[in-house]
Amino acid sequence: MKISETQIQLIGSILGEDPARDLPLKNLTSFRIGGPADVVGFPKDAETLARLLKFARQEHIRYFVLGSGTNVLFHDEGFRGLIISPLRVKKLDVQTNKCHEAHIVAQCGTSLPMVVARSCRLGFTGLEPLWGIPGSIGGSIACNAGANGLSVGDFIEEVEIINRDGEIISLKKGSFSYGYRFCNLPRQSVVLQTCFKLMRSDPYQIHARLENFRSVRRSTQPHGFPSAGCVFKNPARDLSAGALIEKLGFKAMRCGGAEVSSVHANFIVNRNKAKASNVLELIDHITETAYKREGISLELEIRIVNPRENYV
Ligand SMILES: Cc1cc2nc3c(=O)[nH]c(=O)nc-3n(C[C@H](O)[C@H](O)[C@H](O)COP(=O)(O)OP(=O)(O)OC[C@H]3O[C@@H](n4cnc5c(N)ncnc54)[C@H](O)[C@@H]3O)c2cc1C
Repeated sequence: MKISETQIQLIGSILGEDPARDLPLKNLTSFRIGGPADVVGFPKDAETLARLLKFARQEHIRYFVLGSGTNVLFHDEGFRGLIISPLRVKKLDVQTNKCHEAHIVAQCGTSLPMVVARSCRLGFTGLEPLWGIPGSIGGSIACNAGANGLSVGDFIEEVEIINRDGEIISLKKGSFSYGYRFCNLPRQSVVLQTCFKLMRSDPYQIHARLENFRSVRRSTQPHGFPSAGCVFKNPARDLSAGALIEKLGFKAMRCGGAEVSSVHANFIVNRNKAKASNVLELIDHITETAYKREGISLELEIRIVNPRENYV
């Protein structure tokens, strides 16, 4: 159902400003792909975010919560409904204690790279392997972003979520599960903030670890063209999706403006005004070939957002 003018005005009064209309989603994603969203709201704080979510649910408005847009592909048609972007909900607080521990409390819109950089600069270890993963804290928890054998879930002490009834509740470590690119938070919940626990360590060692992860990433991943990171999950511990796609001969294959990266075959890059349909064609082609030739069902790591799907 289309969002009515009255509903748009009520969204504006919750936000304290007019929401954006017909905003191209390519402006909100790292892929630089995606048609217009009917309405986009940028709540300025946690309370406004909770009120907006509650309103959208009560009014049965189709909505999608978008973080930094680094792990999503929107269609060329865009999104028929409300995009809620909590990127302005971004308080960050570091509490230290006498046991050489730090509790880093970051709201959902805080950038993960900033949290990694800040904690390392302050001399707390743990997050170095995650250096270079773009995105927001909310998105990183929803996707359980990770690299080098560790993921954000490994450092979470507590997560605060807004549940499906619009209530803010706190979940301690151990009360939810997480795994390879998933986090089992209660259905329809939105991450509001998290607390990571880190330990103090030798600043020189932290710096050396960071340098190592930085150089590995720089030498193995493409730069210069927009992307959404790895497209598929690795099919097995000892088989990376990149190696499989390369073996199938897709490296550097193009469809319109989209290309399977010649640096890392699990990245599809937007070389020149690619359309979502170009990316989807490459994805279909790779998925079908992997199944036919190797009997492997590849699973997507990126999230494809359908224009008319209900995400509530
Ligand atoms: C160059 C590049 C390199 C990358 N490298 C890695 C890597 O090494 N490892 C890795 O894991 N990922 C990687 N990624 C993917 C991406 O950066 C991560 O998945 C990131 O954590 C997504 O965060 P985001 O804020 O951009 O989420 P978005 O893309 O905005 O959203 C992703 C999903 O999270 C949901 N979401 C967003 N915010 C919230 C919230 N507050 N509450 C509930 N759900 C929410 C969205 O609804 C969506 O389903 C890479 C991406 C790029 C472009």
